[in-house]
Amino acid sequence: MAGRNHLYIPGPTNVPNEILNAMHIPMEDHRSPLFPKLLTPLLQDLKKIFRTETGQAFVFPATGTAGWEIALTNTLNPGDKVLIYRFGQFSHLWGEMARRLGLDVEIHQETWGKGIPLDRLEARLKEDTQHEIKAVLATHNETATGVTSDIAGVRKALDASNHPALLFVDGVSSIASLDFRMDEWGIDGAISGSQKGFMMPAGGAFLAFSQKALRATETSTFPRCFLDLKDQINSNKDGYTPYTPALPILYGLRKALDMLLEEGLDNVYARHFRLAEGTRKAVAAWGLKICAQPGFESDTVTAIMVPEDKDARDVISAAFNKYNISLGGGLSELAGKAFRIGHVGDMNDVSMLGAIAGVEMALLDTGFDIIPGSGVAAAIEYYRATAK
Ligand SMILES: *Cc1c(COP(=O)(O)O)cnc(C)c1O
Repeated sequence: MAGRNHLYIPGPTNVPNEILNAMHIPMEDHRSPLFPKLLTPLLQDLKKIFRTETGQAFVFPATGTAGWEIALTNTLNPGDKVLIYRFGQFSHLWGEMARRLGLDVEIHQETWGKGIPLDRLEARLKEDTQHEIKAVLATHNETATGVTSDIAGVRKALDASNHPALLFVDGVSSIASLDFRMDEWGIDGAISGSQKGFMMPAGGAFLAFSQKALRATETSTFPRCFLDLKDQINSNKDGYTPYTPALPILYGLRKALDMLLEEGLDNVYARHFRLAEGTRKAVAAWGLKICAQPGFESDTVTAIMVPEDKDARDVISAAFNKYNISLGGGLSELAGKAFRIGHVGDMNDVSMLGAIAGVEMALLDTGFDIIPGSGVAAAIEYYRATAK
């Protein structure tokens, strides 16, 4: 099919040409005296995206899933109790990983469409007077449902109950696109990956750990090797890595950081809000509902529910086969019930309108009773009214 395939999935996202070009490099000697000139400033600048000055940033040749594992196995001990709220496929998988690693996982079910219930979290933490809970695992942006949780509120709940648990945050689909403040929110481990807000291919796990979390690595007894933070710390201090680095990922990250910092993080967040808000206006104009309940709407991905007599997979197939655009599917409990539009990464008003128009055509083709042009019109008016 002529023309490009547009990714309107919430990861991997569209990679800008500047980043593709920056990654297209000959290999070089990663033990040379020049290599630290790349890595040392890279790790410093990565901290700016996490908004941490006191923490330490890390890059692993891996994906976000490894980031979960790095946080758990470097700081905790087998059998430790961890608390997690499950409200979508990603929070589900993180809890499952913790269980498989031999942690004592306290899973609280929450409605898919809502995020972390702060009042109940605070009550649970207050009840835990013996401080058996060693870590709270918080999924900042649940990509499966398009739900954003209030991490500042999670920190408040920990503080209000004077609870010393570590706070680990999955920011794979939020960091570098949604407001994220590691130091201000007292986050001990922040986890991200290259293929969402960082606008790169998968293959980089980007992390930052607080000094408190780094101290916990001293006593953690989990067996670990490839994912050991201590090996990274020892090599990174001289500007090197414990094993062969994924060079194109590092050069891509250099360019991504330059682009994000040049735009300015507050502008990046505001752009994602506008992209998301235009999408939500379109969905409302179609008369459809989003999965996220009020107050939890994500600015990087919108999950759209279809009526019971429809199958969301038909919409996704029509969009892909007829119009060459990729939408996200409904995961696990939402399979067939929802499709997702990603509005994260290298996107602007017009690329977003391509998504909205493509979805609108696919909805019409699959028999949805919507007015042609209604979603596009709603988005156009919103984008025009709010363009600078
Ligand atoms: C994409 C994603 C992950 C998984 O990351 P991988 O890079 O696929 O390992 C984890 N958590 C969230 C919230 C995600 O969106």
